Amino acid sequence: MYLKRMVLKNFRNYTETSLEFSPKVNILIGENAQGKTNLLEAIYVLAMTRSHRTNNERELINFEENEALLQGILERNVSKLDLELFLGKKGKKAKINHLEQAKLSQYVGQMNVILFAPEDLALVKGSPALRRKFIDMEFGQIDAHYLYNLSQYRVVLKQRNNYLKQLQSKQSKDLVLLEVLSDQIATFGAEIIAKRIIFLKELEKYAKLVHEQITEEKEKLSFLYDTSIENVYKKNIKQIYQDLKILYQHNQKKEIFQGLTLYGPHREDVQFLINDKNVQIFGSQGQQRTVALSVKLAEIDVMKNETGEYPILLLDDVLSELDGARQTHLLRAIQDRVQTFLTTPSISEIAEKFIKNPKIFRVVAGK
Ligand code: ATP
Ligand code: MG
Repeated sequence: MYLKRMVLKNFRNYTETSLEFSPKVNILIGENAQGKTNLLEAIYVLAMTRSHRTNNERELINFEENEALLQGILERNVSKLDLELFLGKKGKKAKINHLEQAKLSQYVGQMNVILFAPEDLALVKGSPALRRKFIDMEFGQIDAHYLYNLSQYRVVLKQRNNYLKQLQSKQSKDLVLLEVLSDQIATFGAEIIAKRIIFLKELEKYAKLVHEQITEEKEKLSFLYDTSIENVYKKNIKQIYQDLKILYQHNQKKEIFQGLTLYGPHREDVQFLINDKNVQIFGSQGQQRTVALSVKLAEIDVMKNETGEYPILLLDDVLSELDGARQTHLLRAIQDRVQTFLTTPSISEIAEKFIKNPKIFRVVAGK
């Protein structure tokens, strides 16, 4: 798929801009603080309805204005879609082919994007929360059901934590309500965990291949899902659900004491291993970067498999963060098959060599 055209109104430092993109490589070049990342963010928000760098949506609207609008024309294998996202003070509205969508989860997934920013190089060594966010954003795009379970899970988690706090402070004593909430959270939690296992297996398969190529087969990459469920790889949803319920029963006192839900997908993590050793702990900077890059490139193939189309790739300032060999690998991997948007302060020699006929946009002060 590719984004053919886009209009930005009052998004960040863009007042009104209409752009026509190349189905292959688009380079956004400009000095610092001109709006390169803002434009990538706009494409990301058009696809995902939320930003990769802020949860405060007010920030996305131009300082001088109260609402912003993003419109795009997306070309897919057999269809063409008009996408529209309105951001207002009271929330957002999404339209597909001019029809407003009742739920944002119906809208997300039409346009698939993969964003790779310098922060992503921390995917390996950063916090578990960062890896969970990565997993949820990526899997949510290819599976609306996953996204639905996730949003339900978050609602119940909040209720359950609130209720545990009430039990902790003895405002309430009713354990039956806690059991009801435990049952609900285990239901959504099991769906999420089971799906994560399936998707991670697929992602691992492709990441292994990319990683083998970059390291010339010297290192073997694997993933390990870190969970309180024993032997999770051998269990089905129902068994995971039962295990979660047992965990909640056995740890009831502990959870009430802490006033917190201590088990479930919001506490889990994925470990990346090289030759069976955790890269987060034992890997060098370079090894951690190579793993992050392999995982990101693997996503291109996972999405192609799941949706039948290549996603759109957004690369924010990453070339300058990678050495020559990795830059070459990245640019070879995207060549001619994936619509790519790439921001950079200047074009490197390697990029010049590997990118054929890019469309170049000069970004100056939101224009
Ligand atoms: P760099 O090369 O440093 O990464 P960049 O071109 O990617 O630069 P952006 O992050 O896209 O820069 O743009 C930053 C500019 O956008 C800043 O000058 C900032 O003040 C401005 N900006 C951010 N949010 C808003 C907003 N809501 N309204 C108006 N301007 C904004
Ligand atoms: Mg930037």
